[in-house]
Amino acid sequence: MSMKDNDYTCPKCKGHLNVGGYLVFATRTPKRHKGLILLSPKVGEYNYVHHEKLHVKKGELLDIECPICQADLSAPKNKEHAMIHMLGAEDNSEYDLYFSKVVGNQSTYVVANDNVETFGEDALDFDELFYEE
Ligand SMILES: [Zn+2]
Repeated sequence: MSMKDNDYTCPKCKGHLNVGGYLVFATRTPKRHKGLILLSPKVGEYNYVHHEKLHVKKGELLDIECPICQADLSAPKNKEHAMIHMLGAEDNSEYDLYFSKVVGNQSTYVVANDNVETFGEDALDFDELFYEE
């Protein structure tokens, strides 16, 4: 087992999104509350942390932005998911990592070339989500 965590970067500015054991995103709720939300960098873990004054409700679709360049991280073809880049600590390979922007939804897709690994109890068929016409 490697002691190193996976590394995560913004696809737009290449800035590092993981700091101090969390993945850091700028977010905006449907009620236009803005803040930072911290997610677990461990694929398949869905705990999240935010300031107590940022009201985040289960089932809400959040805006997920890069905290460095403010790019909207919505995945191409499916705006209910975000996409970032992941450098695997174990194999040093680059992946596209997709995760749901809906609070409490547990689904993550780790993609390299044509290979998709799916995590979380809410995960659906990746091709249906991202490649259906
Ligand atoms: Zn960025």
